[in-house]
Amino acid sequence: MIPISRTLRQGTPLVMAILLASCSGAEDAREPTVALPSSATVVEGVGDRSAAATGDATPTVAAQRPPASSDSAAVTMVSQPAVAANPLDAQRAYAYLQQICDLGPRPTGSAAMQAQRELLTKHFEALGAQVDFQRFEIRHPRTGEVTPVVNTIVQWHPDRAERILLCAHYDTRPQPDNPRVPARSRGTVFIGANDGGSGTALLMELGHHIPTLQNTALGVDFVFFDAEEFVFNLGTRVDRYFVGSEHFARLYANEPRSFRYRWGVLFDMVGDRQLTIYQEKNSWWWRDTRPLVEDIWETARELGVREFIARRKHNVRDDHLPLRNIGKIPCCNLIDFDYPSAPRNRYWHTDADTIDKCSGESLAKVGYVVLSWLEKLPPADSE
Ligand SMILES: [Zn+2]
Repeated sequence: MIPISRTLRQGTPLVMAILLASCSGAEDAREPTVALPSSATVVEGVGDRSAAATGDATPTVAAQRPPASSDSAAVTMVSQPAVAANPLDAQRAYAYLQQICDLGPRPTGSAAMQAQRELLTKHFEALGAQVDFQRFEIRHPRTGEVTPVVNTIVQWHPDRAERILLCAHYDTRPQPDNPRVPARSRGTVFIGANDGGSGTALLMELGHHIPTLQNTALGVDFVFFDAEEFVFNLGTRVDRYFVGSEHFARLYANEPRSFRYRWGVLFDMVGDRQLTIYQEKNSWWWRDTRPLVEDIWETARELGVREFIARRKHNVRDDHLPLRNIGKIPCCNLIDFDYPSAPRNRYWHTDADTIDKCSGESLAKVGYVVLSWLEKLPPADSE
């Protein structure tokens, strides 16, 4: 992600900036994405892909739905059997992550990205889904060469007009460039096991469970966004982020279609062995996505998945911004931006983002929460 002030300066996402600025709603007006409070200054220079991490854990406030009697002992007692009932296969999820990492770095336009796309196509078609691609071209930010960008869209029950969007970026950053880590310690090869790999592996595992979803009225789309962070320059001119998701959101907003997305959930960095998923701040601030955040964290609480922590932390700029601000899809971000632990996100955008820092159990827990949330959704939109 990009420091917000730089996003505006570079001019590329100008339309997005205008949209962001014009987002209506009291919540936005209070803590707008374009004019972050003082925390934005802290973020300046971090140069995160998509995540401007402020690192300031916000304590739970009264507005949040409190855990019932905040009875952590009771939650623990209930939670253990519930987590044991998780239908997601942690080992299989980890094996998918291994397959993805074995492809090597997977930046936009690379042969490994193409191989990953073939892997996903084969995988999801075998599970009975319909797989399509959204293809377009951009100029390579560094060389100027024409570079293909391809979003992969996996549809379950494509005939259904009321749909849920589950998504992740599947490109990896072209090079490790975490500005918080000295250049000599970042390495030169970026595998992106957690950042790029984890959301993709999670959806591969989740794909086994969508066909048997009891909630039969809703269609589900898995969308893999390309060029989330095809970014080389973090200097005075920052390259564009969210290229794939912005394209997707524009088409969704502007082209005739026979369906609509009721909700969207974006997965990014969900494989950390030390999983802690706080409520991402934009997702909470936006009035239209807050109920979604509340429902997902409430589901986690009911299931006893304690890695979902019902407090706000990190203002993350990620693919959910264009989806929500351009596409008008109420979309939240599930992200663990303490990789591996607070306050230093020290594996992020370095050569240390490798599979040994990830766990199949973490992937399975995130999938369990989302699958259970899907099961609970009312078939007709009653919101
Ligand atoms: Zn990244």
